[in-house]
Amino acid sequence: MSLTKTASPPATVAAATVPFLDLRAQQARIGTEMRRRIDTVLGHCQFVLGPEVLELETELARRAGAAHCVSVSSGTDALLIAMMAEDIGPGDAVFLPAFTYTATAEVPLLLRATPVFVDIDPDTFQMDVVDLDAKVAAVLAAGKLRPRAVIGVDLFGQPADWDAINNVADRHGLVTIDDCAQAFGASLQGRPLGSQAHSTAISFFPSKALGAYGDGGALFTQSAERAALYRSLRTHGEGKMRYDVQRIGINGRLDTLQAAVLLAKLTVFDEELAARDRVARHYDSRLGNLLQTPVRVPHSTSAWAVYAVLLPTEAARARVQAACQAAGVSTAVYYPKPLHHQPAYAPHHDGSRLPVSEAVATRIMALPIHPDLTAAQVDQVCDAVAAALAATALT
Ligand SMILES: *Cc1c(COP(=O)(O)O)cnc(C)c1O
Repeated sequence: MSLTKTASPPATVAAATVPFLDLRAQQARIGTEMRRRIDTVLGHCQFVLGPEVLELETELARRAGAAHCVSVSSGTDALLIAMMAEDIGPGDAVFLPAFTYTATAEVPLLLRATPVFVDIDPDTFQMDVVDLDAKVAAVLAAGKLRPRAVIGVDLFGQPADWDAINNVADRHGLVTIDDCAQAFGASLQGRPLGSQAHSTAISFFPSKALGAYGDGGALFTQSAERAALYRSLRTHGEGKMRYDVQRIGINGRLDTLQAAVLLAKLTVFDEELAARDRVARHYDSRLGNLLQTPVRVPHSTSAWAVYAVLLPTEAARARVQAACQAAGVSTAVYYPKPLHHQPAYAPHHDGSRLPVSEAVATRIMALPIHPDLTAAQVDQVCDAVAAALAATALT
């Protein structure tokens, strides 16, 4: 390889790009603590269920205001274990929003239960609890499935309407599962998310607000009985002793190295939540009169996993995304398709329309939000969006 050979410089120098996520910048801030934590694990070599795992669980439970925390191998496995613990299976209806990440619907189907898709609120994009009530009534009237559980999703980092969900669940004896994969660190009515449902599942996928350097997740519960079941299920259904198999479980543990990474990240987590909130408010103030910015769930704080705006039409979204890309601004679409339209899930849906989920999927667009975005970068994003909208209005 020639040492003198260099890439030819671009003809015009584009503005520096604004990345959707910047894990490198975060690593530069916390590198010393991160290396100390990882070195400690390399020293003791307890790579599975080492001391960092218990330390992490204790700290997460404290932050979530939950009596128990059980760490697991991913957010998806957290949902799976939560449902296995309730013996959810064939003949059971599990209610969940149609507008969420695929894992929320995948897990009931893995257990051969039936997902029942519920529409969302057009302003907050959280599950529409009036529709939830109607869907439970419809399942009861049809008499084929047993309503068993509802998975509320704290979409984009904002809390679902837990008072209303719990009200429906109590009336029908449903188990409540909080898919809090995007919202660890958020709060509702002054209380952290973590004890609003029978079971709360979070994810440490690297792009989440609290992300590991690989997969991971955790479950919170107020019930000692449920916590014991979760611990058993994450280790092959083991009983009080090793090689005593009490139930069918999975290999669902969180690696000690990931626990060490998360403990290092927790040292700056509160500052990062505040930084994300600053970015969100900066976007609000600059874009609020140009398009629909995130409508806040009352009496809540958000973990700002996603800052999503609504464009007037699908065509306008395509034009704005293309213009942003040309201006070096990353955007993304969460989610381009509601789950009842996914090929894998459509056969399990009754074919009815979920009009809000369907419409929002065509118009929604996410802007970069992470703790290392500078005010200048946020302005660069806003400039690009404003210019694209102005050009769109002219055509
Ligand atoms: C990320 C996510 C999950 C799954 O978490 P993994 O750790 O990737 O398995 C589940 N539900 C929602 C809403 C998510 O955003």
